[in-house]
Amino acid sequence: MVTEKIMRPGVLVAAAALSCAAVPAWPQLQQDTAAYRAQGEAGLARLKATSAPETKARNVIIFIGDGMGVSTITAARIFAGQALGRDGESYQAAMDSLDHTALVKTYSHDTQVADSAPTATAIMAGVKTRNGIIGIGPEASLKDCASGKGHELPSLMELAQSRGLATGVVTTTRITHATPASAYAHTVERDWEADTNMPQAAKDEGCVDIARQLVEGRVGVHLDVVMGGGRTALLPKDVKDPEYPDKSGLRADSRNLIAEWQAHNPRGLYAWNRGQLMAFNPARQTRLLGLFEPDHMHYESDRVKDGAGEPSLAEMTETAIRLLSRNRAGYVLLIEGGRIDHAHHAGNAYRALSDTKAMDDAVAAALRLTKASDTLIITTADHSHTLTISGYAPRGNPILGTVNDTAGKPMMAKDGKSYTTLGYANGPGAAADGTGRPDPSTTDTDNADYLQSALVPLSAETHGGEDVVARASGPGAALVRGTIEQHTLYYIMRDALFGAKAK
Ligand SMILES: [Zn+2]
Repeated sequence: MVTEKIMRPGVLVAAAALSCAAVPAWPQLQQDTAAYRAQGEAGLARLKATSAPETKARNVIIFIGDGMGVSTITAARIFAGQALGRDGESYQAAMDSLDHTALVKTYSHDTQVADSAPTATAIMAGVKTRNGIIGIGPEASLKDCASGKGHELPSLMELAQSRGLATGVVTTTRITHATPASAYAHTVERDWEADTNMPQAAKDEGCVDIARQLVEGRVGVHLDVVMGGGRTALLPKDVKDPEYPDKSGLRADSRNLIAEWQAHNPRGLYAWNRGQLMAFNPARQTRLLGLFEPDHMHYESDRVKDGAGEPSLAEMTETAIRLLSRNRAGYVLLIEGGRIDHAHHAGNAYRALSDTKAMDDAVAAALRLTKASDTLIITTADHSHTLTISGYAPRGNPILGTVNDTAGKPMMAKDGKSYTTLGYANGPGAAADGTGRPDPSTTDTDNADYLQSALVPLSAETHGGEDVVARASGPGAALVRGTIEQHTLYYIMRDALFGAKAK
């Protein structure tokens, strides 16, 4: 173990609060007035005991739940608690133990509802930009290579590397996807993940695809830890995928960027399955490239089906911290629960919630492996989604179920059908043919593939534009308060590591 187990104050008191809130699951709830008073007093004690250290942070770990709006946080908490047979509503997730909270405004430079490119750029580089643009200021125009020149934004990773800190990026999406790319890439088009995704004109003007920036860019070349999916963007067309022989690379420039990384990092480990990652030895191997799928990694609930074996986000987080914490100057680590967003786009709350739970497990691992005295941990989202938690289901009602009365019978809407607690404002869960919505009581709403009802029929559910939350613990965490602009998070992290004057 790299660090001693020092519990954060919030975790300690939260655990105490949890034990008095650990009531049997509905319908045997026995929380009475006295129990609520004890829970409230424990909450007050936790707040009073909370003071973030005024020292500088040696390490910063930023968790981004892609699309993890507040309704997702609440539903995933209930989901996680109920999965353990506990009272879901009062269950405390690891993220809930972080003491400092702010509301975060997520609009981008040019839209009310943003995508991950400008929002991750705001968090990682401190500037709002246009939808679809990564690591370049709003002076640039989307897809216009030349317009971005001279407006590249140094990311927190670049600043950290210039000060001798170790750096890492971990995600469950393709490693070249928008959120992880915000740590190391500059591009006027988030889809330029491989050279084949780029128009010739952009290449002629000198723009470089995101995968190449990962391996040879000024930040990418210095990253100590890189883990996620997305092998195809790094492999040439004539090289077969190691896990799926029927798949091959995407690159037209004949470059095998994985082989190039291995050649440049003779003491580095390249892993493409869980077994190889678990054999990682930080005493012998100084760098780590883990690419566990040709495309995005599996959703957490489908991970067991992977033939070659895929690590969980918590396992990747633990390995990353073990490697990065060997640098005495400290480290900056970006961890993305990236597929919460994809499940929501599919109108599929089950996978969104189980992936949120998987990210919470990763947060728990980070809290366990780091010290509150020297590591700032922030959890936040880039943007929200249209998920709602509604109706008047009784306490303990299954979060994925229909809204039932206290006798367990589905309540009926004016169209004579039942309805679920979870729903979407738009997406594939709406009937586009005018036949109206299906009655959820005629299907198994707990099924992993169930699509929640949606109002507006769209092929993909959309992002939501309301504020998200940032929660924090450790040095600098006390500044995570009030209602802040998303790019303020960058300055909070920079200040925690280097003081206000760092540029
Ligand atoms: Zn999205």
